Amino acid sequence: MSECIFCKIIKNEISSRKIYEDEHIIAFLDLTQVTPGHTLVLPKKHVADIFEYDEELASIVFSRIPKIARAIKESDSTIEGMNIVNNNGTVAYQSVFHSHIHLIPRYTKQDNFS
Ligand code: ADP
Repeated sequence: MSECIFCKIIKNEISSRKIYEDEHIIAFLDLTQVTPGHTLVLPKKHVADIFEYDEELASIVFSRIPKIARAIKESDSTIEGMNIVNNNGTVAYQSVFHSHIHLIPRYTKQDNFS
């Protein structure tokens, strides 16, 4: 999977703004920030989408989401909520085929971010 852009980030062949990393997962800021702090969380193991997870990998990845979400929220007192999104397949608007979860902080109801 040498062509996978997220595998290259995991291997430090491409730079990223990393906010968390352990043996199994990595979290870094999305290049295109839907809102400030928009973060992607993904397994280091290359799986294309949710349909390729086994239970163990799902447990590893999804169990870490609350901790990372809390850390993002606590980093900015103006964050009031968060969208957590996971696109699977072209028809579901997935564009990078290394499974990842979007954490999108939300600020106020009147913010200008769509
Ligand atoms: P969509 O493009 O519709 O959001 P995905 O759910 O597959 O589809 O999301 C891929 C995300 O990866 C996009 O939000 C994009 O901005 C982000 N991205 C692509 N390349 C990089 C990169 N080098 N570093 C960080 N984020 C990236």
